Amino acid sequence: MQNNNFSKFSPRTNEKLYDVKITTSEDVNDICLRAKLAFESWRKKSVNERKKYLKKIVEIIRDNSEHIINTIMLDVEKPFCEAETEVIESCDILEYYCSEEFQGIDSPVEIELNTETWPYKKAYGLYEPSGVYAVIKPWNYPFELIIWSIVPLLIAGNTIVLKPSELSNATGILLREITSKAGLPEGVFNIIEGDGTTGNYLIENKNICGISFTGSSKVGKKIFEKKKNMSVKLSLEMGGSDFAIVLSDAIDEIALPGILWGSFSNAGQVCVGIEKVLISKNKYEEFIKKLILETKKLVLKEEIPPIISRKQYLHIRDVVDEAIKHGGKLLCGGFDIKNDDIKKGNYMLPTIIECKDYEYLSSIEEIFAPVIFVAPFENEQHAVKIVNSSCYGLGCSIWTDRVEKHDFLYRALDVGMIWVNEVNLPMPQVPWIGRKESGVGFNLSKNAVYDSMNFKSIHIDNDSSKRFWWYPYIQRS
Ligand code: NAD
Repeated sequence: MQNNNFSKFSPRTNEKLYDVKITTSEDVNDICLRAKLAFESWRKKSVNERKKYLKKIVEIIRDNSEHIINTIMLDVEKPFCEAETEVIESCDILEYYCSEEFQGIDSPVEIELNTETWPYKKAYGLYEPSGVYAVIKPWNYPFELIIWSIVPLLIAGNTIVLKPSELSNATGILLREITSKAGLPEGVFNIIEGDGTTGNYLIENKNICGISFTGSSKVGKKIFEKKKNMSVKLSLEMGGSDFAIVLSDAIDEIALPGILWGSFSNAGQVCVGIEKVLISKNKYEEFIKKLILETKKLVLKEEIPPIISRKQYLHIRDVVDEAIKHGGKLLCGGFDIKNDDIKKGNYMLPTIIECKDYEYLSSIEEIFAPVIFVAPFENEQHAVKIVNSSCYGLGCSIWTDRVEKHDFLYRALDVGMIWVNEVNLPMPQVPWIGRKESGVGFNLSKNAVYDSMNFKSIHIDNDSSKRFWWYPYIQRS
């Protein structure tokens, strides 16, 4: 039994914003049981019936967008445009799933057979929802990531127990009102509140059939270790420490602002944020000079929000100190904030560190901050070796003028997602996927729906005579 509250502090001022009332383990169990009971009728609805609720959710989000944006901004201190993007992309995702057809869920789909060999046989495939899903989400996209996880699960006919991050609880619990206004039947969508302890109660609950987790590799790996041998479906979207590869033919007018955005938006607290920039040795010196110049122009608060918590801010200081002790050269940035107005918050300057020890560079763990490490590379093989030595395999961006010419890179990079002349742009139709310590399972796209379901094959034979291959060894009269 756990009944203490969690205090949430403002990243901008470090003053207390609110308390999160932690759901007790008994309540977690009751809520999971309610979700299991609700599953029995929710799974019987057709996909179109389930979509009707999602269409209402889009309307409610649109009607309340201002309130949602303000809550996100206060909770995690995102600039307005970035909070607004979360709402726009959430509606986009909902509309995409509502407009798609999902074969094999409401009724079995026929699988084509060789009719010459099997004239009387038919085969069908059927997708069935798994049951109650535990949905555990991080704070950095506190609204959108919940939407992109729950929508495919609901379309599939699963029911949900969501635990939003304790660092963005106010945003997460908005979904309680939104889903209830949309009329989702009792028990289909539930929210519990708390930190990792509550998350752990949830994944340990015996009524949970699937886990949709987004968060750090450290926590994701713990969940994987606990659940890998159980019949629980796992979608674990974990951390990353993405590289950008700037080829010699990169167009500076695109690569420079693209890398600034990919590295420093949301103060680098983005899973597919660029943390390491490899630049072709032919253009290294010149590109770095321009990158430093542009980085110094970024404005704290308006363009670079604070780090989410004091604890994380202090951790980042340690990682930066460690990198410098290891021979890294601070090219710009750091923690020396002159502006009294923001000194109380967890602000740091966008920071560039040169690190030519490639082994060390690949081994630096996800920093999740406005900090990038830069280094030159010799040729494409060299860049691939550095990227692939990382324990992560989330995304990688390539900056080039000859997009068709890099088949070698597209194939050789051991990551789930590649962007060319772009970075961190999710599209609902395209799978969001990580490899190695960055992920297990799909998010977004139709794959996310089917990935949360169990597949069943059904074999049917219309021939009324005994099959000749059933015990043919002895002739019986
Ligand atoms: P986190 O791992 O600290 O927490 C994520 C969630 O897990 C929170 O709700 C937390 O309360 C819960 N949790 C913590 N310990 C738990 C446990 N033992 N059992 C169950 N639940 C537990 O991550 P965070 O700091 O909130 O978010 C940042 C991380 O998320 C970064 O590593 C980032 O890369 C990652 N992320 C990944 C993606 C992706 O798509 N791959 C997207 C966004 C964020």
